[in-house]
Amino acid sequence: MTAQLNNFDIILFGATGDLAMRKLLPCLYQAHAAGLLHPEGRILGVSRSKLDTAGFLEKIHSDSKIHIKTHFSEEMWQSFVRRIQYLTVDVNNLSDFERLAQTVKARTQTDNVVIYLSTAPKFFAPACEHLAKVGLNGSNVRIVLEKPLGTDLASSQQINADVAQYFQEQQIYRIDHYLGKENLQNVLPLRFGNIFFEPVWNRDFVQSVQITIAEQLGVEERGEFYDSTGALRDMVQNHIMQMLCFVAMERPKSLGADDVRDEKLKVVAALKPMTANDVARNVIRAQYTAANGLKGYLQEHNVPADSRTETYVAIRAEIDTPRWQGVPFYLRTGKRMPSRSAEIVLNFKPQAKPLFGANANRLVIRLQPDETISTTWWVKQVGSGLDVQAATMTLDMAQVSDERRAEAYELLLREVIDGRLNLFNRRDELEKAWEWVMPILDYWATTPDKPCEYPAQSWGPQEAKDLLARDGNAWLEDQQ
Ligand code: NAP
Repeated sequence: MTAQLNNFDIILFGATGDLAMRKLLPCLYQAHAAGLLHPEGRILGVSRSKLDTAGFLEKIHSDSKIHIKTHFSEEMWQSFVRRIQYLTVDVNNLSDFERLAQTVKARTQTDNVVIYLSTAPKFFAPACEHLAKVGLNGSNVRIVLEKPLGTDLASSQQINADVAQYFQEQQIYRIDHYLGKENLQNVLPLRFGNIFFEPVWNRDFVQSVQITIAEQLGVEERGEFYDSTGALRDMVQNHIMQMLCFVAMERPKSLGADDVRDEKLKVVAALKPMTANDVARNVIRAQYTAANGLKGYLQEHNVPADSRTETYVAIRAEIDTPRWQGVPFYLRTGKRMPSRSAEIVLNFKPQAKPLFGANANRLVIRLQPDETISTTWWVKQVGSGLDVQAATMTLDMAQVSDERRAEAYELLLREVIDGRLNLFNRRDELEKAWEWVMPILDYWATTPDKPCEYPAQSWGPQEAKDLLARDGNAWLEDQQ
């Protein structure tokens, strides 16, 4: 059972934007409908558009309500929107912030103020400066920073430095919505709450680890955005890095936010740095090509015909710790894959002298589309003799509990309201992750090599298969 949250004011910058309409407001609605929001909790939508509250409510009635897929009733919606007020605030205009501060301060009994910056990061610095000028950066204020937090190490450092001028690290909640996924969080209890996993979770027993985020969609209408971003920045530096940290970290001293984040930081810091030669050998970038009636990346709307932006990346990484020395971690993500999935695979080593001639065991932790944990076992074939066959045992999280499973954004919003930092990135973690990916970005920026190719709706280029074959390994879909 989840308890009701503290009282709050959420000031939602970018309230008229796509993210607010599609995710943030629907997620707040769900928390409201589930009775989790304090009855007095209030949502102040702010953005540049000159609307009054009635106009904003009309807008969200048409643009946001349609994204609420479950537990919707018009009556519940009406009770939800009674929490909402709208103010026009241009981040560049101090007097708008003075009105905002008056509105917030007119309210008594607010336990905490959550400021959610769902705007382009270029607005973070002026917004923070103006918030501080009007006194909206006190110890009861938390600030949520939406991704992307930079496009490289320098820009990320700049954003962090700008915000740090006005807010303490303990007030800063950096969003990576993968951290809101239940089955990623489940990795810690799985590893450290069950006696039989921890003893084999290391180089003595694990042959390799694979982390995949596969998207079925192409770049759709977002060609311009995507072409300046690419798969490495869009998925690896943030989401895949979080998955890697949960799989590879040591047991934290406690479940306190800083103890957990300290251990995650140590994983990122222990990733072997890559030289240009390492990038050439251990990183594959690729673009999807036309196939199965689908366009290739270079034919997509707003993508330059000579673009070298990767829609797929596969990396062979290593973590230089006693636990993981020599174990390859294969990280990959791609668009236009055959299906949508996010999963972590631990391939265990084959037995040295197998009595049954069987192969190795495998553990798959799936974050999406379904949330499952599967183990592959070798069991006796029915009939005479002792021949064995592979069998998979799957724990389906949807069957473990009847509790409503919240979307990642809802869970994260609830964590901010309650002031828990565990599921948010600390500055040092984020910057270390950028440090590790920078040699890859630098190499790609300077090499004349073109990306490899893979047909739309395939699992990636041959070169990525070869990357694993070199170690005698194969991607999950190629394993028997
Ligand atoms: P968007 O649809 O372009 O909306 C931008 C918002 O910023 C609008 O509400 C806009 O207000 C506001 N804004 C622009 N200039 C402003 C100013 N000078 N003062 C105050 N407000 C201003 O963007 P979005 O898709 O919601 O994305 C917001 C951020 O989240 C971006 O950094 C994006 O990369 C990130 N993000 C988005 C998604 C997604 O699915 N959309 C997912 C992950 C991360 P007006 O409309 O009133 O001008």
